[in-house]
Amino acid sequence: MLGYCWLCDQSLRVGETTGLCRICFTDLPRLPPSCLRWRCVRPDLAKGRYWFAGFAWQPDIQHLIHRFKFQRCPELASLLAPLLAAQVQQCYQFHQVDWPDLIVAMPMTYQRWCKRGYSQAGLLTQQVASVLQRPVAQGLLRRIRDEEGAQHHADAGQRWQNMKRSIHCTRSVKGLTVAVVDDVLTTGASISAAADALLRRGAKAVDAWTFAYVEPHQPQGET
Ligand SMILES: [Zn+2]
Repeated sequence: MLGYCWLCDQSLRVGETTGLCRICFTDLPRLPPSCLRWRCVRPDLAKGRYWFAGFAWQPDIQHLIHRFKFQRCPELASLLAPLLAAQVQQCYQFHQVDWPDLIVAMPMTYQRWCKRGYSQAGLLTQQVASVLQRPVAQGLLRRIRDEEGAQHHADAGQRWQNMKRSIHCTRSVKGLTVAVVDDVLTTGASISAAADALLRRGAKAVDAWTFAYVEPHQPQGET
């Protein structure tokens, strides 16, 4: 039993091992290997080195992320992670930059974890790191406050203010390059806050890898 395509529900055929049929897999809205840091809001405050996202915020990607986060499908991490890993690999090759020393998940608060039952960024990070054979830093980042509920209605300026210093780095990362992994990149406020925390604890550089990128004008819906 090969199962069904996560996007079109067609039966999978032999060789379609990604969880997507060949057509859906080919049609995914892959992004070129460009750094998105400067396209996010408040680029003057955006910390870090390379921010890469694998896919554009198109309906198929929205559908996958929605199921992954809100419909209790943590198993989707095993579909999303190899897709993200392949995109990230292409970005590092294209820019000819060194791989980060450590990979860390964008943290969520304990309260949010209890509500969802798992951390989607944590699952994605574990599996991306395993595909790329890079070390994961467990518990390196902690979320002090949960601003996500408020973020939904906040404008970009408010998001930056809310996120400021909401993430704490628990130990020294002196001289290390760290990649932060998250599911969706929107304004970049969360990633910038994570990068800021890592840089304060001595990180040499901070990269960001996200599965999807939401253009500033696109409605994101529930996050
Ligand atoms: Zn399909």
